[in-house]
Amino acid sequence: MSPAGNRPGNDGVNADVAVVGAGPAGLAAAVAAAEAGAAVAVVDAGSQPGGQFWRHRPETIVPEPDGRGHHGWRTYVDLRSRFDAARAAGRITYLPGLQVWMAQNYDGGFTLRTTPTVAGVPPRDNGSSVARTVVAPRLVLCPGGYDRQLPVPGWELPGAMAAGGIQAFIKGNAALPGKRFVIAGTGPFLLPVAAGVAEAGGQVLAVLESSSGSAWLPHLRAAAGVPGKALEGAEYASIFARHRIPYRQRSIVTEVLGTNHVTGVRTAKVDSVGRVRPGTERIYQGVDVVGFGWGFTPQMELPLSLGAETRLDADGSLVGVVDEHQQSSVRGLYLAGEVTGVGGASLAVLEGLAAGTAAARGRALSSSKTMWRHRKFAQAMHKAHPIPPSWQEWLTPDTAVCRCEEVTAGQIADARDLLDARDARSLKSFTRAGMGWCQGRVCGFATACLGEGTGNQGAAPSVGSLAGSAKRPLAAPVAIGELTALAEPAETNLQTKKN
Ligand SMILES: Cc1cc2nc3c(=O)[nH]c(=O)nc-3n(C[C@H](O)[C@H](O)[C@H](O)COP(=O)(O)OP(=O)(O)OC[C@H]3O[C@@H](n4cnc5c(N)ncnc54)[C@H](O)[C@@H]3O)c2cc1C
Repeated sequence: MSPAGNRPGNDGVNADVAVVGAGPAGLAAAVAAAEAGAAVAVVDAGSQPGGQFWRHRPETIVPEPDGRGHHGWRTYVDLRSRFDAARAAGRITYLPGLQVWMAQNYDGGFTLRTTPTVAGVPPRDNGSSVARTVVAPRLVLCPGGYDRQLPVPGWELPGAMAAGGIQAFIKGNAALPGKRFVIAGTGPFLLPVAAGVAEAGGQVLAVLESSSGSAWLPHLRAAAGVPGKALEGAEYASIFARHRIPYRQRSIVTEVLGTNHVTGVRTAKVDSVGRVRPGTERIYQGVDVVGFGWGFTPQMELPLSLGAETRLDADGSLVGVVDEHQQSSVRGLYLAGEVTGVGGASLAVLEGLAAGTAAARGRALSSSKTMWRHRKFAQAMHKAHPIPPSWQEWLTPDTAVCRCEEVTAGQIADARDLLDARDARSLKSFTRAGMGWCQGRVCGFATACLGEGTGNQGAAPSVGSLAGSAKRPLAAPVAIGELTALAEPAETNLQTKKN
Protein backbone atom coordinates (compact mmCIF):
# COMPACT_ATOMS: atom_id res chain seq x y z
CA MET A 1 0.00 0.00 0.00
CA SER A 2 1.40 3.40 -0.89
CA PRO A 3 1.79 6.08 1.78
CA ALA A 4 -1.02 8.62 1.94
CA GLY A 5 0.92 11.27 0.02
CA ASN A 6 1.41 8.92 -2.86
CA ARG A 7 -2.16 7.75 -3.18
CA PRO A 8 -3.68 8.95 -6.42
CA GLY A 9 -6.57 11.39 -6.01
CA ASN A 10 -9.91 11.15 -7.80
CA ASP A 11 -8.22 11.57 -11.14
CA GLY A 12 -5.42 9.12 -10.28
CA VAL A 13 -4.56 5.70 -11.62
CA ASN A 14 -3.36 2.69 -9.67
CA ALA A 15 -1.54 -0.05 -11.58
CA ASP A 16 0.75 -3.02 -11.03
CA VAL A 17 3.19 -1.69 -13.62
CA ALA A 18 3.53 1.90 -14.84
CA VAL A 19 5.25 2.51 -18.17
CA VAL A 20 6.53 5.91 -19.30
CA GLY A 21 6.72 6.26 -23.09
CA ALA A 22 4.84 4.58 -25.94
CA GLY A 23 7.69 4.36 -28.44
CA PRO A 24 9.20 1.01 -29.49
CA ALA A 25 10.42 0.23 -25.95
CA GLY A 26 7.34 1.46 -24.06
CA LEU A 27 4.84 -0.17 -26.40
CA ALA A 28 6.67 -3.51 -26.10
CA ALA A 29 6.98 -3.20 -22.31
CA ALA A 30 3.28 -2.41 -21.90
CA VAL A 31 2.18 -5.30 -24.11
CA ALA A 32 4.53 -7.77 -22.39
CA ALA A 33 3.44 -6.70 -18.90
CA ALA A 34 -0.27 -6.81 -19.76
CA GLU A 35 0.04 -10.21 -21.44
CA ALA A 36 1.82 -11.47 -18.31
CA GLY A 37 -1.30 -10.56 -16.36
CA ALA A 38 -0.42 -7.15 -14.85
CA ALA A 39 -2.65 -4.09 -14.73
CA VAL A 40 -0.62 -1.55 -16.69
CA ALA A 41 -0.75 2.25 -16.94
CA VAL A 42 1.06 3.85 -19.89
CA VAL A 43 1.83 7.56 -19.80
CA ASP A 44 3.10 9.10 -23.04
CA ALA A 45 3.79 12.69 -23.98
CA GLY A 46 2.74 11.91 -27.54
CA SER A 47 -0.89 11.96 -28.64
CA GLN A 48 -0.74 8.48 -30.20
CA PRO A 49 1.57 5.46 -29.84
CA GLY A 50 4.75 5.16 -31.91
CA GLY A 51 7.37 7.35 -30.24
CA GLN A 52 10.05 8.84 -32.47
CA PHE A 53 10.72 5.86 -34.70
CA TRP A 54 7.08 5.09 -35.59
CA ARG A 55 5.86 8.66 -35.51
CA HIS A 56 3.03 8.95 -38.03
CA ARG A 57 0.34 11.37 -39.11
CA PRO A 58 -2.56 11.96 -36.69
CA GLU A 59 -4.85 8.95 -36.76
CA THR A 60 -7.82 11.31 -36.74
CA ILE A 61 -6.73 12.30 -40.26
CA VAL A 62 -5.18 9.02 -41.46
CA PRO A 63 -6.88 6.30 -39.37
CA GLU A 64 -5.02 3.41 -41.00
CA PRO A 65 -1.48 4.48 -41.84
CA ASP A 66 0.22 2.24 -44.41
CA GLY A 67 3.71 2.52 -42.90
CA ARG A 68 5.26 3.97 -46.05
CA GLY A 69 8.72 5.38 -45.26
CA HIS A 70 8.88 3.37 -42.02
CA HIS A 71 11.05 0.44 -41.08
CA GLY A 72 9.82 -2.38 -38.87
CA TRP A 73 6.21 -1.36 -39.53
CA ARG A 74 5.02 -4.95 -39.22
CA THR A 75 6.45 -5.04 -35.70
CA TYR A 76 4.59 -1.83 -34.93
CA VAL A 77 1.30 -3.18 -36.31
CA ASP A 78 1.71 -6.37 -34.25
CA LEU A 79 2.54 -4.49 -31.03
CA ARG A 80 -0.19 -1.96 -31.66
CA SER A 81 -2.90 -4.57 -32.16
CA ARG A 82 -1.84 -6.35 -28.96
CA PHE A 83 -1.75 -2.98 -27.17
CA ASP A 84 -5.26 -2.11 -28.41
CA ALA A 85 -6.54 -5.57 -27.44
CA ALA A 86 -5.14 -5.20 -23.91
CA ARG A 87 -6.75 -1.77 -23.65
CA ALA A 88 -10.08 -3.15 -24.78
CA ALA A 89 -9.77 -5.89 -22.16
CA GLY A 90 -9.10 -3.28 -19.48
CA ARG A 91 -5.54 -4.45 -18.80
CA ILE A 92 -3.87 -1.29 -20.11
CA THR A 93 -4.87 2.22 -19.10
CA TYR A 94 -3.44 4.48 -21.79
CA LEU A 95 -2.74 8.11 -20.88
CA PRO A 96 -1.56 9.92 -24.02
CA GLY A 97 -0.83 13.65 -24.19
CA LEU A 98 0.57 13.69 -20.67
CA GLN A 99 4.19 14.14 -19.68
CA VAL A 100 5.64 12.97 -16.41
CA TRP A 101 7.25 15.97 -14.77
CA MET A 102 8.21 14.25 -11.53
CA ALA A 103 8.75 10.66 -10.41
CA GLN A 104 9.13 9.74 -6.75
CA ASN A 105 9.92 6.42 -5.14
CA TYR A 106 8.80 5.21 -1.78
CA ASP A 107 9.19 1.86 -0.03
CA GLY A 108 6.42 0.16 -1.92
CA GLY A 109 6.78 1.68 -5.38
CA PHE A 110 6.58 4.82 -7.48
CA THR A 111 4.41 7.88 -8.00
CA LEU A 112 4.32 9.71 -11.32
CA ARG A 113 3.07 13.30 -11.48
CA THR A 114 1.92 14.29 -14.95
CA THR A 115 0.89 17.41 -16.82
CA PRO A 116 -0.69 17.88 -20.26
CA THR A 117 1.97 18.03 -22.99
CA VAL A 118 0.18 20.88 -24.67
CA ALA A 119 -1.74 22.89 -22.10
CA GLY A 120 -5.39 23.40 -22.93
CA VAL A 121 -5.45 21.06 -25.95
CA PRO A 122 -7.18 17.76 -25.21
CA PRO A 123 -5.38 14.77 -26.72
CA ARG A 124 -7.11 13.09 -29.64
CA ASP A 125 -7.35 9.66 -28.04
CA ASN A 126 -9.32 9.05 -24.86
CA GLY A 127 -6.52 10.37 -22.69
CA SER A 128 -6.95 13.09 -20.13
CA SER A 129 -6.39 16.75 -20.74
CA VAL A 130 -5.89 17.21 -17.02
CA ALA A 131 -2.97 16.15 -14.86
CA ARG A 132 -3.18 12.57 -13.59
CA THR A 133 -1.19 10.87 -10.84
CA VAL A 134 -0.09 7.30 -11.43
CA VAL A 135 0.94 5.00 -8.58
CA ALA A 136 2.50 1.58 -9.15
CA PRO A 137 4.83 -0.77 -7.30
CA ARG A 138 6.92 -1.28 -10.45
CA LEU A 139 7.94 1.21 -13.09
CA VAL A 140 9.39 0.82 -16.60
CA LEU A 141 10.95 4.01 -17.95
CA CYS A 142 11.19 4.24 -21.75
CA PRO A 143 11.43 8.00 -22.41
CA GLY A 144 13.77 7.67 -25.43
CA GLY A 145 16.11 10.43 -26.45
CA TYR A 146 16.58 13.43 -28.69
CA ASP A 147 19.17 14.68 -31.19
CA ARG A 148 22.58 15.51 -29.82
CA GLN A 149 23.79 18.86 -31.12
CA LEU A 150 27.20 20.52 -31.43
CA PRO A 151 27.41 24.28 -31.80
CA VAL A 152 28.82 25.82 -34.98
CA PRO A 153 29.01 29.49 -35.97
CA GLY A 154 25.60 30.65 -37.20
CA TRP A 155 23.56 27.69 -35.93
CA GLU A 156 21.27 30.02 -34.02
CA LEU A 157 19.72 31.25 -37.30
CA PRO A 158 16.15 30.21 -38.12
CA GLY A 159 16.38 27.34 -40.59
CA ALA A 160 19.09 25.51 -38.62
CA MET A 161 17.32 22.45 -37.22
CA ALA A 162 18.05 19.15 -35.57
CA ALA A 163 18.06 16.38 -38.18
CA GLY A 164 15.46 14.51 -36.10
CA GLY A 165 13.34 17.65 -36.00
CA ILE A 166 13.22 17.68 -39.80
CA GLN A 167 12.24 14.02 -39.84
CA ALA A 168 9.62 14.47 -37.12
CA PHE A 169 8.16 17.39 -39.10
CA ILE A 170 7.83 15.24 -42.22
CA LYS A 171 6.52 12.13 -40.44
CA GLY A 172 4.02 14.07 -38.34
CA ASN A 173 2.76 16.51 -40.98
CA ALA A 174 3.52 15.00 -44.38
CA ALA A 175 5.05 18.38 -45.24
CA LEU A 176 8.55 19.85 -45.49
CA PRO A 177 10.01 22.63 -43.32
CA GLY A 178 11.83 24.10 -46.38
CA LYS A 179 12.89 23.44 -49.95
CA ARG A 180 16.67 23.10 -50.23
CA PHE A 181 18.47 21.17 -47.50
CA VAL A 182 21.96 20.31 -46.30
CA ILE A 183 22.15 17.51 -43.70
CA ALA A 184 25.33 17.25 -41.62
CA GLY A 185 26.82 15.50 -38.61
CA THR A 186 27.63 11.85 -38.18
CA GLY A 187 25.97 8.44 -38.11
CA PRO A 188 23.57 6.34 -40.16
CA PHE A 189 20.63 8.46 -38.98
CA LEU A 190 21.60 11.16 -41.52
CA LEU A 191 20.55 8.72 -44.28
CA PRO A 192 16.83 8.31 -43.43
CA VAL A 193 16.55 12.04 -42.80
CA ALA A 194 17.97 12.94 -46.23
CA ALA A 195 16.00 10.13 -47.91
CA GLY A 196 12.80 11.32 -46.20
CA VAL A 197 13.37 14.90 -47.40
CA ALA A 198 14.00 13.78 -50.99
CA GLU A 199 11.03 11.40 -51.06
CA ALA A 200 8.80 14.20 -49.74
CA GLY A 201 9.85 16.45 -52.64
CA GLY A 202 12.69 18.48 -51.08
CA GLN A 203 16.10 18.96 -52.65
CA VAL A 204 19.09 17.69 -50.65
CA LEU A 205 22.18 19.56 -51.83
CA ALA A 206 24.52 17.38 -49.76
CA VAL A 207 24.83 15.02 -46.83
CA LEU A 208 28.04 15.76 -44.92
CA GLU A 209 29.37 12.92 -42.76
CA SER A 210 32.31 13.77 -40.51
CA SER A 211 33.48 10.16 -40.35
CA SER A 212 34.42 7.81 -43.16
CA GLY A 213 33.19 4.42 -44.35
CA SER A 214 36.63 2.95 -43.57
CA ALA A 215 35.89 3.50 -39.85
CA TRP A 216 33.59 0.44 -40.13
CA LEU A 217 36.42 -1.86 -41.24
CA PRO A 218 37.43 -2.97 -37.70
CA HIS A 219 33.73 -3.67 -36.96
CA LEU A 220 32.65 -5.79 -39.91
CA ARG A 221 31.76 -8.78 -37.72
CA ALA A 222 29.49 -6.69 -35.55
CA ALA A 223 27.93 -5.15 -38.68
CA ALA A 224 27.35 -8.59 -40.21
CA GLY A 225 25.54 -9.65 -37.02
CA VAL A 226 22.55 -7.48 -37.97
CA PRO A 227 22.15 -8.04 -41.71
CA GLY A 228 18.93 -6.03 -41.81
CA LYS A 229 20.96 -2.86 -41.35
CA ALA A 230 22.91 -3.50 -44.56
CA LEU A 231 19.61 -3.93 -46.41
CA GLU A 232 18.40 -0.60 -45.00
CA GLY A 233 21.70 0.95 -46.14
CA ALA A 234 21.18 -0.43 -49.66
CA GLU A 235 17.67 1.01 -49.72
CA TYR A 236 19.00 4.47 -48.81
CA ALA A 237 21.79 4.16 -51.40
CA SER A 238 19.19 3.58 -54.08
CA ILE A 239 17.13 6.60 -52.92
CA PHE A 240 20.31 8.71 -52.90
CA ALA A 241 21.14 7.57 -56.44
CA ARG A 242 17.60 8.23 -57.68
CA HIS A 243 17.56 11.75 -56.25
CA ARG A 244 21.26 12.41 -56.98
CA ILE A 245 22.09 13.25 -53.37
CA PRO A 246 25.84 13.81 -52.87
CA TYR A 247 27.17 11.97 -49.79
CA ARG A 248 30.45 13.60 -48.70
CA GLN A 249 32.54 11.83 -46.08
CA ARG A 250 35.03 13.53 -43.74
CA SER A 251 33.11 16.76 -44.35
CA ILE A 252 31.50 19.20 -41.94
CA VAL A 253 29.60 22.48 -41.91
CA THR A 254 32.01 25.08 -40.54
CA GLU A 255 29.53 27.98 -40.64
CA VAL A 256 25.84 28.52 -41.22
CA LEU A 257 25.42 31.61 -43.43
CA GLY A 258 22.60 34.16 -43.42
CA THR A 259 21.35 37.28 -41.67
CA ASN A 260 17.76 36.68 -40.60
CA HIS A 261 17.48 33.11 -41.87
CA VAL A 262 19.76 30.40 -43.21
CA THR A 263 20.79 31.16 -46.79
CA GLY A 264 23.80 28.90 -47.17
CA VAL A 265 26.54 26.93 -45.45
CA ARG A 266 30.31 26.98 -45.53
CA THR A 267 31.77 23.48 -45.46
CA ALA A 268 35.21 21.88 -45.26
CA LYS A 269 36.94 18.53 -45.35
CA VAL A 270 38.35 17.26 -42.04
CA ASP A 271 41.04 14.78 -41.04
CA SER A 272 40.44 11.69 -38.92
CA VAL A 273 40.18 13.69 -35.67
CA GLY A 274 38.01 16.42 -37.14
CA ARG A 275 40.64 19.09 -37.83
CA VAL A 276 39.71 21.23 -40.83
CA ARG A 277 41.94 20.59 -43.86
CA PRO A 278 43.04 24.02 -45.17
CA GLY A 279 42.06 24.79 -48.75
CA THR A 280 39.02 22.46 -48.79
CA GLU A 281 36.39 25.10 -48.04
CA ARG A 282 33.27 25.26 -50.14
CA ILE A 283 30.08 27.30 -49.99
CA TYR A 284 26.58 26.03 -50.70
CA GLN A 285 24.21 28.92 -51.55
CA GLY A 286 20.43 28.87 -51.66
CA VAL A 287 20.03 26.59 -48.66
CA ASP A 288 16.98 27.27 -46.49
CA VAL A 289 17.27 24.40 -44.00
CA VAL A 290 20.38 22.85 -42.53
CA GLY A 291 19.88 19.79 -40.32
CA PHE A 292 22.44 18.66 -37.76
CA GLY A 293 22.63 15.23 -36.15
CA TRP A 294 25.47 14.09 -33.90
CA GLY A 295 23.82 10.99 -32.50
CA PHE A 296 21.25 11.07 -29.71
CA THR A 297 21.08 12.08 -26.07
CA PRO A 298 19.07 9.70 -23.87
CA GLN A 299 16.47 11.47 -21.66
CA MET A 300 17.93 10.76 -18.25
CA GLU A 301 15.93 13.13 -16.02
CA LEU A 302 13.54 10.50 -14.67
CA PRO A 303 16.11 7.70 -14.08
CA LEU A 304 18.43 10.24 -12.40
CA SER A 305 15.69 11.65 -10.21
CA LEU A 306 14.96 8.14 -8.92
CA GLY A 307 18.62 7.53 -8.13
CA ALA A 308 19.41 4.98 -10.85
CA GLU A 309 23.07 4.17 -11.33
CA THR A 310 24.55 5.49 -14.59
CA ARG A 311 27.56 4.94 -16.84
CA LEU A 312 29.11 6.46 -19.95
CA ASP A 313 28.28 4.59 -23.15
CA ALA A 314 30.62 4.20 -26.15
CA ASP A 315 29.17 7.36 -27.75
CA GLY A 316 29.86 9.45 -24.64
CA SER A 317 26.19 9.46 -23.56
CA LEU A 318 25.07 9.10 -19.98
CA VAL A 319 22.92 5.94 -19.78
CA GLY A 320 21.33 3.79 -17.09
CA VAL A 321 22.95 0.60 -15.77
CA VAL A 322 20.65 -2.45 -15.99
CA ASP A 323 20.85 -6.17 -15.25
CA GLU A 324 19.88 -8.94 -17.65
CA HIS A 325 16.16 -8.28 -16.94
CA GLN A 326 16.53 -4.53 -17.58
CA GLN A 327 16.20 -3.77 -13.84
CA SER A 328 18.16 -0.69 -12.78
CA SER A 329 20.08 -0.32 -9.52
CA VAL A 330 16.78 0.84 -7.95
CA ARG A 331 14.55 -2.09 -6.96
CA GLY A 332 11.38 -2.24 -9.05
CA LEU A 333 12.65 0.32 -11.56
CA TYR A 334 13.25 -1.02 -15.08
CA LEU A 335 14.79 0.86 -18.00
CA ALA A 336 14.42 0.07 -21.70
CA GLY A 337 15.25 1.71 -25.03
CA GLU A 338 17.56 4.67 -25.52
CA VAL A 339 18.00 5.27 -21.76
CA THR A 340 20.14 2.11 -21.52
CA GLY A 341 22.24 3.09 -24.55
CA VAL A 342 21.32 4.40 -27.98
CA GLY A 343 20.84 1.27 -30.07
CA GLY A 344 17.88 1.66 -32.41
CA ALA A 345 14.27 0.60 -32.44
CA SER A 346 14.75 -3.19 -32.79
CA LEU A 347 16.89 -3.31 -29.66
CA ALA A 348 14.44 -0.98 -27.89
CA VAL A 349 11.60 -3.45 -28.62
CA LEU A 350 13.61 -6.41 -27.29
CA GLU A 351 14.52 -4.51 -24.14
CA GLY A 352 10.93 -3.38 -23.67
CA LEU A 353 9.65 -6.95 -23.91
CA ALA A 354 12.21 -8.12 -21.33
CA ALA A 355 11.51 -5.19 -18.98
CA GLY A 356 7.72 -5.48 -19.21
CA THR A 357 7.80 -9.22 -18.57
CA ALA A 358 10.12 -8.87 -15.59
CA ALA A 359 8.15 -5.94 -14.13
CA ALA A 360 4.94 -7.98 -14.34
CA ARG A 361 6.76 -10.82 -12.61
CA GLY A 362 6.16 -12.93 -15.68
CA ARG A 363 8.47 -15.74 -16.73
CA ALA A 364 11.81 -13.98 -17.19
CA LEU A 365 12.98 -13.72 -20.77
CA SER A 366 16.59 -14.71 -21.09
CA SER A 367 18.77 -12.13 -22.79
CA SER A 368 18.56 -13.25 -26.42
CA LYS A 369 21.35 -13.64 -28.96
CA THR A 370 19.52 -11.13 -31.15
CA MET A 371 19.66 -8.58 -28.36
CA TRP A 372 23.39 -9.23 -27.91
CA ARG A 373 24.00 -8.80 -31.66
CA HIS A 374 22.08 -5.52 -31.71
CA ARG A 375 24.12 -4.26 -28.75
CA LYS A 376 27.35 -5.19 -30.54
CA PHE A 377 26.12 -3.41 -33.65
CA ALA A 378 25.29 -0.30 -31.63
CA GLN A 379 28.75 -0.23 -30.03
CA ALA A 380 30.34 -0.60 -33.48
CA MET A 381 28.19 2.23 -34.83
CA HIS A 382 29.25 4.53 -32.00
CA LYS A 383 32.91 3.74 -32.62
CA ALA A 384 32.61 4.21 -36.39
CA HIS A 385 30.77 7.53 -35.98
CA PRO A 386 32.38 9.31 -33.04
CA ILE A 387 32.06 12.97 -32.19
CA PRO A 388 35.25 14.27 -33.85
CA PRO A 389 37.70 14.90 -30.96
CA SER A 390 38.74 18.29 -32.41
CA TRP A 391 35.23 19.69 -32.78
CA GLN A 392 35.95 22.49 -30.31
CA GLU A 393 38.40 23.97 -32.86
CA TRP A 394 35.45 24.72 -35.16
CA LEU A 395 34.14 27.35 -32.75
CA THR A 396 35.00 31.04 -32.64
CA PRO A 397 34.81 32.95 -29.33
CA ASP A 398 31.48 34.46 -30.37
CA THR A 399 29.84 31.19 -31.44
CA ALA A 400 26.60 30.77 -29.48
CA VAL A 401 26.70 27.57 -27.43
CA CYS A 402 23.55 28.05 -25.33
CA ARG A 403 21.06 29.48 -27.81
CA CYS A 404 18.34 30.06 -25.19
CA GLU A 405 20.49 32.33 -23.01
CA GLU A 406 22.85 33.49 -25.82
CA VAL A 407 25.99 32.29 -24.04
CA THR A 408 29.05 32.14 -26.29
CA ALA A 409 31.99 29.74 -26.47
CA GLY A 410 34.25 32.64 -25.36
CA GLN A 411 32.18 33.25 -22.21
CA ILE A 412 32.30 29.57 -21.34
CA ALA A 413 36.07 29.43 -21.92
CA ASP A 414 36.52 32.49 -19.67
CA ALA A 415 34.44 30.93 -16.87
CA ARG A 416 36.45 27.71 -17.20
CA ASP A 417 39.90 29.32 -17.38
CA LEU A 418 39.45 32.33 -15.07
CA LEU A 419 36.88 31.04 -12.57
CA ASP A 420 37.74 27.34 -12.69
CA ALA A 421 34.15 26.44 -13.59
CA ARG A 422 34.78 23.01 -15.12
CA ASP A 423 31.56 21.08 -14.72
CA ALA A 424 28.23 21.81 -16.38
CA ARG A 425 26.54 22.93 -13.15
CA SER A 426 29.23 25.48 -12.23
CA LEU A 427 29.23 26.78 -15.80
CA LYS A 428 25.47 27.18 -15.58
CA SER A 429 25.78 29.27 -12.42
CA PHE A 430 28.54 31.49 -13.82
CA THR A 431 27.40 31.91 -17.43
CA ARG A 432 23.67 30.93 -17.51
CA ALA A 433 24.47 28.24 -20.12
CA GLY A 434 21.64 25.69 -19.84
CA MET A 435 19.42 27.96 -17.74
CA GLY A 436 16.94 28.84 -20.48
CA TRP A 437 13.82 27.34 -22.00
CA CYS A 438 15.36 23.97 -22.98
CA GLN A 439 17.18 23.65 -19.62
CA GLY A 440 20.41 22.51 -21.29
CA ARG A 441 18.85 19.71 -23.33
CA VAL A 442 20.38 21.17 -26.49
CA CYS A 443 23.64 22.68 -25.20
CA GLY A 444 24.26 20.38 -22.21
CA PHE A 445 26.62 17.94 -23.94
CA ALA A 446 28.67 20.70 -25.62
CA THR A 447 28.84 22.78 -22.44
CA ALA A 448 30.02 19.78 -20.43
CA CYS A 449 32.71 19.07 -23.08
CA LEU A 450 33.84 22.71 -23.20
CA GLY A 451 34.07 22.90 -19.42
CA GLU A 452 36.27 19.84 -19.23
CA GLY A 453 38.08 20.53 -22.52
CA THR A 454 41.80 20.16 -22.10
CA GLY A 455 43.35 21.43 -25.29
CA ASN A 456 40.81 20.42 -27.86
CA GLN A 457 40.79 16.70 -27.33
CA GLY A 458 38.03 16.44 -24.75
CA ALA A 459 35.30 14.85 -26.90
CA ALA A 460 33.50 12.97 -24.11
CA PRO A 461 32.77 14.60 -20.77
CA SER A 462 32.69 12.69 -17.49
CA VAL A 463 29.68 10.96 -15.92
CA GLY A 464 29.58 13.62 -13.20
CA SER A 465 29.40 16.56 -15.57
CA LEU A 466 26.79 14.93 -17.81
CA ALA A 467 24.71 13.90 -14.81
CA GLY A 468 25.00 17.47 -13.52
CA SER A 469 23.62 18.85 -16.75
CA ALA A 470 20.89 16.18 -17.11
CA LYS A 471 19.62 16.30 -13.51
CA ARG A 472 16.57 18.51 -13.45
CA PRO A 473 14.17 18.75 -10.52
CA LEU A 474 11.29 18.98 -13.01
CA ALA A 475 11.44 16.67 -16.03
CA ALA A 476 8.97 18.84 -17.97
CA PRO A 477 7.55 22.38 -17.71
CA VAL A 478 4.65 22.45 -15.27
CA ALA A 479 2.03 25.06 -14.34
CA ILE A 480 2.48 26.78 -10.97
CA GLY A 481 -1.05 25.62 -10.04
CA GLU A 482 0.02 21.98 -10.30
CA LEU A 483 3.00 22.65 -8.03
CA THR A 484 0.93 24.38 -5.39
CA ALA A 485 -1.65 21.57 -5.53
CA LEU A 486 1.13 19.30 -4.34
CA ALA A 487 1.64 21.17 -1.06
CA GLU A 488 -0.45 18.79 0.99
CA PRO A 489 0.95 15.48 -0.28
CA ALA A 490 4.49 16.87 -0.23
CA GLU A 491 4.23 17.46 3.52
CA THR A 492 2.84 14.00 4.00
CA ASN A 493 5.74 12.59 1.99
CA LEU A 494 8.23 14.41 4.19
CA GLN A 495 6.53 12.99 7.26
CA THR A 496 6.70 9.54 5.75
CA LYS A 497 10.42 9.94 5.10
CA LYS A 498 11.15 11.19 8.63
CA ASN A 499 9.33 8.24 10.10
C1 LIG B 1 13.57 12.67 -33.68
C2 LIG B 1 14.09 11.26 -33.78
C3 LIG B 1 13.99 10.56 -34.99
C4 LIG B 1 14.48 9.25 -35.10
N1 LIG B 1 14.40 8.60 -36.31
C5 LIG B 1 15.00 7.39 -36.48
C6 LIG B 1 15.06 6.73 -37.75
O1 LIG B 1 14.58 7.23 -38.75
N2 LIG B 1 15.68 5.53 -37.83
C7 LIG B 1 16.24 4.95 -36.74
O2 LIG B 1 16.80 3.85 -36.87
N3 LIG B 1 16.21 5.54 -35.52
C8 LIG B 1 15.63 6.75 -35.37
N4 LIG B 1 15.64 7.38 -34.15
C9 LIG B 1 16.14 6.64 -33.01
C10 LIG B 1 14.95 5.76 -32.60
O3 LIG B 1 13.86 6.59 -32.43
C11 LIG B 1 15.18 5.05 -31.35
O4 LIG B 1 16.20 4.12 -31.53
C12 LIG B 1 13.91 4.33 -30.86
O5 LIG B 1 12.74 5.03 -31.18
C13 LIG B 1 14.03 4.22 -29.38
O6 LIG B 1 12.82 3.83 -28.86
P1 LIG B 1 12.40 4.32 -27.40
O7 LIG B 1 11.10 3.65 -27.14
O8 LIG B 1 13.52 4.15 -26.47
O9 LIG B 1 12.19 5.90 -27.52
P2 LIG B 1 11.22 6.84 -28.34
O10 LIG B 1 10.80 6.27 -29.63
O11 LIG B 1 11.91 8.16 -28.36
O12 LIG B 1 9.91 6.94 -27.43
C14 LIG B 1 9.92 7.60 -26.20
C15 LIG B 1 8.52 8.05 -25.88
O13 LIG B 1 8.52 8.52 -24.54
C16 LIG B 1 7.80 9.73 -24.47
N5 LIG B 1 8.31 10.50 -23.32
C17 LIG B 1 9.56 10.99 -23.12
N6 LIG B 1 9.65 11.61 -21.94
C18 LIG B 1 8.42 11.52 -21.38
C19 LIG B 1 7.87 12.01 -20.15
N7 LIG B 1 8.60 12.70 -19.26
N8 LIG B 1 6.57 11.76 -19.90
C20 LIG B 1 5.80 11.05 -20.79
N9 LIG B 1 6.28 10.58 -21.96
C21 LIG B 1 7.57 10.81 -22.26
C22 LIG B 1 8.05 10.39 -25.81
O14 LIG B 1 7.02 11.31 -26.12
C23 LIG B 1 8.05 9.19 -26.75
O15 LIG B 1 6.75 8.92 -27.24
C24 LIG B 1 15.11 8.65 -34.00
C25 LIG B 1 15.20 9.35 -32.77
C26 LIG B 1 14.70 10.64 -32.67
C27 LIG B 1 14.86 11.36 -31.36
